[in-house]
Amino acid sequence: MTIVTFDHYPRFAELTDILHEFAKEFPKLVSIECIGHSHERREIWLLTVTNSETGPAGEKPAFWADASIHATELAPTIAILHLLHTLVAGYGIDPEITRCLDTRAFYLVPRVNPDGAELALADSPRIVRSSTRAYPPDAETPHGHVGGDVDGDGHLRLMRMRDPNGPWKVCPEESRLLVRRDPVEVGGEYYRVFPEGRVHGYDGVTIGLAPPREGLDLNRNFPAQWRLEHEQKGAGPYPGSEPEVAALIRFVASHPNICAGVAFHTQSGVILRPFSHQSDEAFPAEDLWTYQKLGAKGTELTGYPAISVYHEFRYHPKEVITGAFDDWAYNHLGIFGWTVEIWNPQRQAGIPEMKYIEWYREHSIEDDRKMLAWSDDALQGKGYQDWVPFDHPDLGPVEIGGWDSLYAFGNPPPHLLEAEISRFSGWLIWHALVLPRLEFLEATAVAEAPGTWRIRVVVQNTGWLPTLVTKRARDIKAVRGVRCELDLPEGARLVSGKRQEDAGQLEGRAYKSSAPTRRPADPTDDRAKVDWVIVGTAGETIGITASHPRAGTVRTSLILA
Ligand SMILES: [Zn+2]
Repeated sequence: MTIVTFDHYPRFAELTDILHEFAKEFPKLVSIECIGHSHERREIWLLTVTNSETGPAGEKPAFWADASIHATELAPTIAILHLLHTLVAGYGIDPEITRCLDTRAFYLVPRVNPDGAELALADSPRIVRSSTRAYPPDAETPHGHVGGDVDGDGHLRLMRMRDPNGPWKVCPEESRLLVRRDPVEVGGEYYRVFPEGRVHGYDGVTIGLAPPREGLDLNRNFPAQWRLEHEQKGAGPYPGSEPEVAALIRFVASHPNICAGVAFHTQSGVILRPFSHQSDEAFPAEDLWTYQKLGAKGTELTGYPAISVYHEFRYHPKEVITGAFDDWAYNHLGIFGWTVEIWNPQRQAGIPEMKYIEWYREHSIEDDRKMLAWSDDALQGKGYQDWVPFDHPDLGPVEIGGWDSLYAFGNPPPHLLEAEISRFSGWLIWHALVLPRLEFLEATAVAEAPGTWRIRVVVQNTGWLPTLVTKRARDIKAVRGVRCELDLPEGARLVSGKRQEDAGQLEGRAYKSSAPTRRPADPTDDRAKVDWVIVGTAGETIGITASHPRAGTVRTSLILA
């Protein structure tokens, strides 16, 4: 049955119905809960996806994915719905998906910031960065330009107004495009350009850009390297001050089985990893190598380059961002955190090598013409609209046109949505399958003398990553080791060993070199053995539990014979 289609952007009420429908239709695999409320009291839904018959999610290594913390970034929600759909539709059919849900769990938050998305999805949309909470709280009534759908057509484009000292002119070869006026050029017809919107308090001469009334950026509100407002705008009054971010922090920090996670955003068509604020040299080498291997698989499966924010994705070469989800996940929890920026309109238009942020600072008119041709062709002309006169309520006569910022640049237009978001599910399932996984190799009770047994348990990590997941987790002492625990019946007694034995951390296969010639030894450091000697009565049952916060919990029982 079809619960969801990937051809439109649902508002909150429809999204809520879709999510509950999944839980209702697939009760063995999907459960839904509310992990907090947004500023406007909408539910922040979280779905847990795992085969509940092979154990609860909390006892399995888990992968986190969230979406749409930024208000206008709508495609991310659909990427999560696609993963959800892929998992439930593939369970019992696709062996990898089946194994994944039998042995791992997913925690999915399809819309972290439902208030902001609701504004972007309104009939007459409005753009805020993140939360709809006014911030700073004493922000004055805006004076100057404020973005919004001023002509009421449901799209957010650009406004241009004639100005003899404007920086733009009509492109001589393509009258729909604007190009920069030459440095020494005078005497032509020039324009100023603003995003579609109102200009409050316009005096007929000056137009300032009003500071945003809703000035928060929820992806600067996470605790790692969080900075005050005067250093980084939008970070909020203190780390985790915003209810949406607090809900995420609370859930992730209280679920130590989460070993890795992705925050979905738009746009750029790129897989981003930490650090945001410092060079790759600051990584423990193994963590950098592992990030690179995980990212390379992401590139192979999605076509998106995988890069460091610090080295290749900075808004300004002299500035860094801090307080983002992925940096918090890596720095404070020692897990692999990612930011995936969905959609790259330039790449769609045949500009494959565009350099993300730098492109907006400097690119050729040829690129603009390619993009315009792409709009005319692939978007049936809906991406870029020619300029049409509009009688602006504040400015008088202007023209509205240019790119549709929500559904051409910011997000895929609905007819290209499925093709874009369906590329991620395979990588996320693969990523979940590389997580550490605790299993029993052996559990035996051997009679040593009448009434005395030696209990032996051997546990192993069958995952690719070590139980620590990262070297960072070792350095910050984030995770205890494997714990093996004996549950003895009444009357039985331990002769040697402790009821609870610490078996340490177990390695995976992630750090193996690419050839066995240089360091060929493969010690059994993925295994641990615990022996106990007990006194008991034949026929009694001994319970054994082995657990690791990240690698999961396994249980077995032995009958004394
Ligand atoms: Zn974003």
